[in-house]
Amino acid sequence: MRVLHISDHADPLATPGGEFCGGQNVYVRELARRLAGSGCTVDVVTRWADGRLARREPIAPGARTVRVPAGPIGPLPRERFGEVLDEFCEGVVGLHKEAGGYDVVHSHYWYSAVAALRLGDRHQVPLVHTHHSLGAVRRAALGRDAADEAGEHFAARHRIERRIGLRAAAVVASSPGELTDLQQLLGTPRHTLHVVPPGVDTAVLTPRDRALARAELGLPADVPVVLFVGRLEQRKGWEDLVPAFALVRRALPGAVLVVVGGEAPERRTGRGPLAALVERHGLTGSVDLRGPVPHQATARYYSAANVTAVPSHYEPFGLVAVESMACGTPVVATRVGGLRWSVADPRVGVLVPPRNPASLAKALVDVLTSGAAERRQACLDRATSVYGAERWVDGIRAIYHRVADPRVTAAGAQ
Ligand code: UDP
Repeated sequence: MRVLHISDHADPLATPGGEFCGGQNVYVRELARRLAGSGCTVDVVTRWADGRLARREPIAPGARTVRVPAGPIGPLPRERFGEVLDEFCEGVVGLHKEAGGYDVVHSHYWYSAVAALRLGDRHQVPLVHTHHSLGAVRRAALGRDAADEAGEHFAARHRIERRIGLRAAAVVASSPGELTDLQQLLGTPRHTLHVVPPGVDTAVLTPRDRALARAELGLPADVPVVLFVGRLEQRKGWEDLVPAFALVRRALPGAVLVVVGGEAPERRTGRGPLAALVERHGLTGSVDLRGPVPHQATARYYSAANVTAVPSHYEPFGLVAVESMACGTPVVATRVGGLRWSVADPRVGVLVPPRNPASLAKALVDVLTSGAAERRQACLDRATSVYGAERWVDGIRAIYHRVADPRVTAAGAQ
């Protein structure tokens, strides 16, 4: 089966953790690699954003990324993708023709949905879509912090998110909560919706010896370590985490906060907003800003930590929470989006209200001072039973077979 993934801004081979690169990049790369491993031929088309990278580059045997030019080569903030969307869509249509047609086209995020819809208007091809983020939910969660989720931009996004839900043969939701949102906010028909939680690569994201991981990372051996992993966007809640961590230090004076993601130390020009906040709270010596690390290296950080904090204001899925569990490390997360499902079991962590440093601090201290062994086992069990990569890829492949078989698709639409 020949599959095309459309991943507008998220290049599967880019390094996550910086400003523009995160969960969608990891999701698409891992999915492409695993689908290819199970016999599919996979192309991932993305915008060519880095001139140092080749137009076409292998991801794994049977999977490659194809970068199409759209606008000037160089980074482009996600909210400005509309400026190059038309050119991107034509690039995708051109690739489809050049490849002699794909059996299934799977689009990711709403800009990619625009390209998929255009492809679907011109060629007979079954469409599958994963939203990764929804305009209406993002706007409700972030309010004034999501300035782009307003006016014509929001209206266009919402229209496309509705249209792809009505036009696609299948829409993948990452949690039961997302399925409800898609039905209620977008009117996506139930028969096209499938809940398939993303999986983590448990070969890479696997527990390591904590003492060894700390020694390798140059972290102190016997102090509580709180970990944050992610892009330093405002919606990730790092502005709540710093004051929360100041409270944690009152209860546990030796505690250290390690931050993975954000600006690389060698590229920092002066003090960034996070470092400034850390300094304002008098925490400079106890917060360790590591900058982005390659995805394979994150397991060492999760293993070294006693708890991972995911203090997001909005989080469509939140891969970091399940990656942490896969390494046996419990999670304190906000009760938003996919985190409500991934951290639903109280043994794997604690859910707290967003934008509330006091609750966050209390939960971090609770987790740091209770039931470490039981939590560790519960995390490992949940990661393998619910968020295993094989279950994920089998689920997606079953959808592809269903939609690529016209008899099944016709029956489902009745
Ligand atoms: N990540 C990484 N290196 C970093 C920071 C983040 O590999 O320095 C990865 C992290 O392991 C996770 C992804 O980036 O796989 C972030 O995904 P998540 O769903 O948590 O957030 P998103 O970026 O989608 O908002």
